[in-house]
Amino acid sequence: MALKALATPVYDAAMNADLDEELASAERFLDGVAHALQALDEGRYGACATCGEPIEATLLEADPLRGTCDAHLEFDPR
Ligand SMILES: [Zn+2]
Repeated sequence: MALKALATPVYDAAMNADLDEELASAERFLDGVAHALQALDEGRYGACATCGEPIEATLLEADPLRGTCDAHLEFDPR
């Protein structure tokens, strides 16, 4: 009984941490979609958010939510 009493809160905490991480990941994804849709709406989809240069098509194919060119990856608004 003692072991189970100890294990349950640890298990619950681990499950909550997993859910928190999944939720955070889903929120990041939705943020990315919102940014991409806004960029589409404003006619700047596929252009780097920092320098305005077109993002290479192969990069967009690999990651359609990408918001910057390679040089400005760290400034991706997502
Ligand atoms: Zn750029």
